[in-house]
Amino acid sequence: MADTYDLVIIGGGPGGYNCAIRAGQLGLRVACVEKGATLGGTCLNVGCIPSKALLHASEAYENINTSYAALGIKTNGVSLDLAQMMASKSETVDGLTKGISFLFKKNKVEHITGTGRIAGPGAVEITDAKGKTISLVTKNIVIATGSEVTPLPGTKIDEKRIVSSTGALALPRVPKTMVVIGAGVIGLELGSVWRRLGAKVSVVEYLPRILPGADGEIAKQAQRAFKRQGMGFHLGMKVTGIETLKTKLKLSMEPAKGGDVQILEADVVLVCIGRRPFTQGLGLKTAGVKTDPRGFIETKNWQTGVPGIWAIGDCTIGPMLAHKAEEEGTACAEAIVGKAAHVNYAVIPGVVYTAPEIAWVGRTEEELIEAGIAFKKGAFPFTANARARANHETQGFVKVLADATTDEVLGVHMMGTNVSEMIGEAALAMEFRAASEDIARTCHAHPTLSEALRQAAMGVEGWTMQM
Ligand code: FAD
Ligand code: NAD
Repeated sequence: MADTYDLVIIGGGPGGYNCAIRAGQLGLRVACVEKGATLGGTCLNVGCIPSKALLHASEAYENINTSYAALGIKTNGVSLDLAQMMASKSETVDGLTKGISFLFKKNKVEHITGTGRIAGPGAVEITDAKGKTISLVTKNIVIATGSEVTPLPGTKIDEKRIVSSTGALALPRVPKTMVVIGAGVIGLELGSVWRRLGAKVSVVEYLPRILPGADGEIAKQAQRAFKRQGMGFHLGMKVTGIETLKTKLKLSMEPAKGGDVQILEADVVLVCIGRRPFTQGLGLKTAGVKTDPRGFIETKNWQTGVPGIWAIGDCTIGPMLAHKAEEEGTACAEAIVGKAAHVNYAVIPGVVYTAPEIAWVGRTEEELIEAGIAFKKGAFPFTANARARANHETQGFVKVLADATTDEVLGVHMMGTNVSEMIGEAALAMEFRAASEDIARTCHAHPTLSEALRQAAMGVEGWTMQM
């Protein structure tokens, strides 16, 4: 006789584990099936967390070598211990994945290790590493199987010389030269890590700009900053092949619009041209779950077209972000018990954890222009912010976009140190549908970087005071 559950979740990433914890809190009998050895999914194991650990450590290393002297701190004999840097990253990952197991126990979530498949309505079949299969009967199934690396046609990722983000998070030595294919979030973050540690990094991007999706003005200024740091850019170029020689990789590229072939040599090539939904072997077709042409599961309020089957996170349409998956996981569990669940898709912040950091929430200038929405704009540079000057971290600016008639904040875009922490305030303001004047008239502590947001908001009505 098979066990009966209220909910079986397939996938233990930020979508799945948050859904499981919330479902446990709400009193459901819930199991979370994860094929990996640890919980946490892409984010904790090979994504957000290890990349941020390496970004933090490599930034400290670079700062010690480049900017500490100006602060009056002399350092001698600073050297890199890459093995220790990697060990420290792994320790963080290990601690956090174990933390999810603890939260599962605390919230009475059953963790089942194995590969899940939808065997029919209300039936999940799980196969473990030894091939042993068990079946669960459940009232609800949530698909939270995430995403995988989009391959570059004609290129085989070996995770040693031609790597995806997973290989780039665990290189055993610093390559002399690295070519990054794709000037998106992963390319800029992991490209920054290896450049800081000593690699000569060049980025090849198909589009004529970096960071598609980010505000154009921010992307332009960010590219200038990365260039000053020594990162090379080949924009509007398409890669036509990678030749694997004994000691080098030879990458051929040509202008996207057509033109002469150019060659770049590298020790390591990082392929990061996006991610695609991962739903392999789930039995979606037999279960009747529909996907769009790119393979994303189609949902309405996290429900697929099949009663009792839900889907959340990277395998569904929308930004492939851990906090989007988390929001959906929580909302989905609440919807399953009949609560009024909600995700505000207009207020999902995006952050690129480079130096300077880039962060935004809401719409870009380009999107507002395209939608024909009249807006006003206020901006404030960190060069005029007292805290940024005290810290010698004056790169970047904050920009607030507000509706020309109602003054409602429609978008906030930032580039600078610690803007990943500052964007939360803008998101909260937008969640409460604040006017730019609400931010401008909120007392901000002095001296803080967040005063730049206030000054930018003042700028919407033309009364910025500190510039
Ligand atoms: P995932 O985290 O991919 O989890 C899905 C899980 O399902 C996996 O553990 C997988 O093993 C499991 N699974 C799949 N199929 C089955 C099956 N049949 N049976 C059992 N288990 C199965 N996002 C951010 O917001 N901030 C960041 O800083 C950030 N940094 C990133 C850095 C990198 C290098 C990468 C690659 C991604 C990063 N992301 C970041 C994106 C983030 O990792 C994803 O958006 C997030 O993990 C999606 O969560 P998810 O639960 O939908 O899927
Ligand atoms: P991305 O979509 O951010 O960037 C991919 C880039 O590759 C784009 O600029 C695209 O134009 C370019 N590209 C596509 N095909 C190409 C080709 N053939 N040749 C050259 N360039 C090409 O994707 P990513 O950087 O791989 O990241 C994958 C996902 O992971 C993203 O959705 C992102 O949201 C998520 N992620 C988020 C964070 C974060 O939030 N800080 C960090 C890392 C990853």
